[in-house]
Amino acid sequence: MATPAAPAAGDNRPPSHLFYQARLRRPLASRAEGIYIWDETGRRVIDGSSGAMVVNIGHGNPRVLEAMKRQMEAATFIYRLHFENEPAERLAAALADRCPAGLDRVFFVSGGSEAVESCLKLARQYAVATGQGSRFKVISRFPSYHGSTLGALSVTGHAAFSAPFAPMMHEMPKIPAPTAYLDRDGLDMAARGRRYADMLEDEIRRQGPETVLAFIMEPIGGASTGALVAPDTYYPRIREICDRYGVLLIHDEVMSGAGRTGRYLGGDHWGITPDLVALSKGLGAGYVPLGAMIASEKLVRPVLDAGGFQHGFTYAGNPLASAAGLAVLDEIDAHDLMGNAARMGALLKARLEALKPRFPFIGDVRGKGLLLAVEFVSDPETMATLPRELNAHARVVDLAFERGLIIYSRRTRGGIDGDHFLVCPPMIVTAGEIDEIMAILDDTLLALA
Ligand code: PLP
Repeated sequence: MATPAAPAAGDNRPPSHLFYQARLRRPLASRAEGIYIWDETGRRVIDGSSGAMVVNIGHGNPRVLEAMKRQMEAATFIYRLHFENEPAERLAAALADRCPAGLDRVFFVSGGSEAVESCLKLARQYAVATGQGSRFKVISRFPSYHGSTLGALSVTGHAAFSAPFAPMMHEMPKIPAPTAYLDRDGLDMAARGRRYADMLEDEIRRQGPETVLAFIMEPIGGASTGALVAPDTYYPRIREICDRYGVLLIHDEVMSGAGRTGRYLGGDHWGITPDLVALSKGLGAGYVPLGAMIASEKLVRPVLDAGGFQHGFTYAGNPLASAAGLAVLDEIDAHDLMGNAARMGALLKARLEALKPRFPFIGDVRGKGLLLAVEFVSDPETMATLPRELNAHARVVDLAFERGLIIYSRRTRGGIDGDHFLVCPPMIVTAGEIDEIMAILDDTLLALA
């Protein structure tokens, strides 16, 4: 069969039989290296969002390409029910090493939704295996994003994403995300952090503790909240509350994990050990689809003893993906990319903060390491949002793209709408490249004003 011809110039349809929104029509990409992507006309664009916060070590990394080539020559796919494979074993050990003590069992998957889905199902099977069959509710936060499969969607706090599927899901209870920066209640941040954490205890009691299985949260928010960081008091209090009621704590580190925030896991900033971790994106860093659930032996043992985990995906733990994941970790270590993410993140955040006096519609700059967001407001005192019809979150992305910079945005904030964008370049970014990013952003914001 003949390959379909490329669309003629000016044809606004997607280039093939692919299925996505017309607004997302973009130029054809032809190659990528470091923090840059070139389109078919030779125009160079800075990948200021690392794709979707994925390409943490940059594009075209020779160490990863070489490791993948070597592994492809040896074996690409070995099914886990037939053989063990060394790259998967080594990657699991390397991940357990990087996680807090006690998180030592790794279950591979191919993406973030699969990682979250695996956490939910292991938690439930653990409850069943340990005589706690009445526990099935997973409390999560609003807004939040945990993935697009039905289980992950049921804990995602984003009404528009889940609405069409409501009859097909068991909608799970939600508590507000800790948007303490918006509160005008006279309390200090420490008190606000405790108050938001206590909302979990209230919800556990409302639901009936014997029915609550787990609480899932993004330690540092992703696109749904715009890199939301809770006050420091929030994190230990959440752990205490989970322990008090026998509720498992799941950290969704799909976006905040794998080193982007300057620590391997976002939760490491507060020294918290969750019961389960969902990891993806930066784990395979865009070279392969790769994700992982990391769990404590305490959870895994009873499930294995009761007959095994009733769950799994065909491509899980394949040697090619694992070899790529190992090379990504080696690259992070060899060049201290987590240290660079911390240093360059602090520099970029300070530069973004410095924009505030010139652009009064910048209400907040937040995040950690290279997971950073800028929020727009109509009034920095009241933090009132911009009118929805301005569509500022989409316009800023388009204006930046025209000027040669990719940023990432979504319109959500607390229970109401708000405009923010994320700036999350690869962890290899240099101070000179941050100058380039800032020059384009400056020009973008002038055009937006
Ligand atoms: N969890 C979080 C925090 C995410 O940011 C995402 C994706 O953006 C997911 C889960 C879902 O990951 P995937 O799109 O790889 O299924």
